[in-house]
Amino acid sequence: MTGNFNQHRSLLVNLKCPECGTLHDAGKLNTVCINDDCRSTLFAQYHLSEGLSKDILQGRKASMWRYRELLPVTDAKNIVSMGEGFTPIIPIENLKHETGENEVFWKDESGNPTGSFKARGIGMAVSKAKELGIKAIATPTAGNAGGALAAYAARAGIKAIVYMPRLTPKVFKDECRLYGAELLEVDGNISDCGKLINEHALLNHWFQISTLKEPYRLEGKKTMGYEIAEQFNWQVPDVILYPTGGGTGLIGIWKAFDELEQLGWIGSKRPRMVAVQSESCNGIVKAFETGLHTAAFVDGGFTIANGLRVPKSYADKVILRLLYASHGCAISVSDAEMNAAVKQIAKHEGMLIAPEGAALWQAYKKLKASQWIKPGEQVLMINTGSGYKYLENISI
Ligand SMILES: *Cc1c(COP(=O)(O)O)cnc(C)c1O
Ligand SMILES: [Zn+2]
Repeated sequence: MTGNFNQHRSLLVNLKCPECGTLHDAGKLNTVCINDDCRSTLFAQYHLSEGLSKDILQGRKASMWRYRELLPVTDAKNIVSMGEGFTPIIPIENLKHETGENEVFWKDESGNPTGSFKARGIGMAVSKAKELGIKAIATPTAGNAGGALAAYAARAGIKAIVYMPRLTPKVFKDECRLYGAELLEVDGNISDCGKLINEHALLNHWFQISTLKEPYRLEGKKTMGYEIAEQFNWQVPDVILYPTGGGTGLIGIWKAFDELEQLGWIGSKRPRMVAVQSESCNGIVKAFETGLHTAAFVDGGFTIANGLRVPKSYADKVILRLLYASHGCAISVSDAEMNAAVKQIAKHEGMLIAPEGAALWQAYKKLKASQWIKPGEQVLMINTGSGYKYLENISI
């Protein structure tokens, strides 16, 4: 009946630190845990015991905001929305000789505003920042987060400041400028952008929404987990492959499944979660292979998957914990393999996916060959973005 956001109340309670347990007031502006020895990413918590029925979803719009009760925005007038979320599940159609006895699907995020799933996290963070009265938002970015911030800030009437590596394809810079953001090109990687923007944000009183140092981008990205459960009829696939940079989506999907189980909307089954990285920045893969619980800083330089050029995730501990808990794994893919996969999926499946998404197809084939993925298992790959923004770096 209701596509109208107004009638739904957020069940947000507070923010909790997953490392030291400190609670934070969600009515105030938060970044990371206030405990100086900790500084961990904060997790939003909700009143999940309220016996919410999944019938509330009936008739609601196909957007990430259909889960309003489980999202942090309190007053619906602060929601900045351009149709993000509820992206399609698309089966592998013509490459079935490669998938054998697996059912293999994409969740295709390329149709989101600004062409990537960053619209979910940034749309949520901008909406919540608007609710908290923020006038200027800054972020370091490998590309897609900058475009999404620039667009959502333009729509919200908030100033956007974006720091991006100079080596990022031109389209990512042009879109930021077109949306009216202030863009600084930095000679270095996203960590260098982060260091510089830290200094400048402090001086200029910009609110920073750098990956996992602000609590609500995670809440936007977790909606992928809700959608996956709903689209698979409240079952979950056996394996989910995720292209891991900062890891927000991986952590978000995992958080969503926990929340849905607490609500009684799904059971205790979980997918095995697979973190796929570029060979250029594979700190999580290296840590996983040696059984470690933190990742080292790894930067091997340029990769066509700019979203994966993250030398060290801020939430490396959380990512590794969930990989172990889910009996998942971590695997890296080279640029040549991603390029070949972009071409194969375009030519045979009719989808021009981002190199980050293409990395998953290559990872799937490796995990199937090694029998880590078994016949009969259902596999979901998250294509996080559109390939159209990357053409400058794809050899045809
Ligand atoms: C940002 C980005 C990623 C990495 O996302 P995280 O959740 O930070 O790991 C993957 N793919 C694309 C296309 C991206 O823009
Ligand atoms: Zn803490």
